[in-house]
Amino acid sequence: MKVPFVDLRAMHDEVRAEFNTVFNDILDKSSFVGGPYVTNFEDNFASYCGTKHAVVCNSGTDAVKLALSAAGVRSGDGVIVPANTFIASVEGITMLGAFPVFVDIDAMTYHLSVKHLSDYLENECRLGLDGHLVDGRTGASLTAILPVHLFGMVADMAPLIELAKNYNLTIVEDAAQAHGASYNMSGNVLRAGSFGLTAAFSFYPGKNLGALGEGGAVTTNDLHADNLIRMLRDHGSSQKYVHTSPDGWNSRLSTIQCAFLDIKLKKLDEWNNRRRQAAEWYRKCLQGDERILLPIVPEGREHVYHLYVIRILDRERVRQTLGERGIECGLHYPIPLHLQKAYRDLGYQTGDFPDTEESANTILSLPIFPHITEEMVAYVCENLKSVL
Ligand SMILES: *Cc1c(COP(=O)(O)O)cnc(C)c1O
Repeated sequence: MKVPFVDLRAMHDEVRAEFNTVFNDILDKSSFVGGPYVTNFEDNFASYCGTKHAVVCNSGTDAVKLALSAAGVRSGDGVIVPANTFIASVEGITMLGAFPVFVDIDAMTYHLSVKHLSDYLENECRLGLDGHLVDGRTGASLTAILPVHLFGMVADMAPLIELAKNYNLTIVEDAAQAHGASYNMSGNVLRAGSFGLTAAFSFYPGKNLGALGEGGAVTTNDLHADNLIRMLRDHGSSQKYVHTSPDGWNSRLSTIQCAFLDIKLKKLDEWNNRRRQAAEWYRKCLQGDERILLPIVPEGREHVYHLYVIRILDRERVRQTLGERGIECGLHYPIPLHLQKAYRDLGYQTGDFPDTEESANTILSLPIFPHITEEMVAYVCENLKSVL
């Protein structure tokens, strides 16, 4: 048997007829940028996330940049970000001329650790003249926290929001891996994308909601942020030929991608449920084996399993042998960002973030996608146990 890491084909087969209809309609109209397909998808995605607004853009990376920019992050600022995330979280920061300030993760959830963050804010920062905290090491003024809802589970938002309030930091979510994931905030079940001033989503094909190409969006409840992002993604212009901001560029998302995404959005809950079913098959098969650490879902959170990440010792050997047996696994992520060559000038070193470094060496992402079968999961589990 072969088990690919992801297979998107079955999802698209379910909606192929609807795709063909909108494709033909868009060809008939031959209008490819803007229009009702874009605004309809923006409205539907905002209501799905439980926010007032959503603005689509070219990619998740642009979405992070736009979300931070609308939250007031400026050149020279420091933005707090977990050391274990996809590099795009940090690119959104550096594209604005701001600096990533890495904080270690929680070893159990892989998210930005509330404990490490509060230790850092308490012990390694001082209060600046403008009321913002200043990073003691670099002197950068800290303006925002970028929690990442990594692997498909919302980060621990209640204490993060509390810390942000106490230290005058704005929260911007990186929700690129968590479309539809939820978190119980003192009795209110809220979806990823509705906690921060702004939140960034990616519609890269492999994400839980993927375009047929590149795409992204920012969600917000803030009308000012919504207007600002609409202007920035369209050449700094809110009226044709009138450019009010020098920071704009072209980050519009094509009409046809919005039309496809709107069709897939209607299926998202069903496809997320299928991912949860697959996670349940894995859990049933693997739990009780003390050589394997399974994903941990704290109470009040609903995981959407963008990735199914376990921890094992001797990871490289296991990954290679599974590969030889037709089981494709992933690593998210093998080299922590603070140790990447790209960020060498920031001066971090091995040992700075032990929980991130330990997880980088032991994590393994098992195949998961909405149409993975129970037989495939059983085959992965059987082989994983035998290789261990
Ligand atoms: C995928 C991803 C992004 C960036 O999205 P792109 O659409 O690929 O630019 C940002 N952050 C995280 C955590 C991601 O997984």
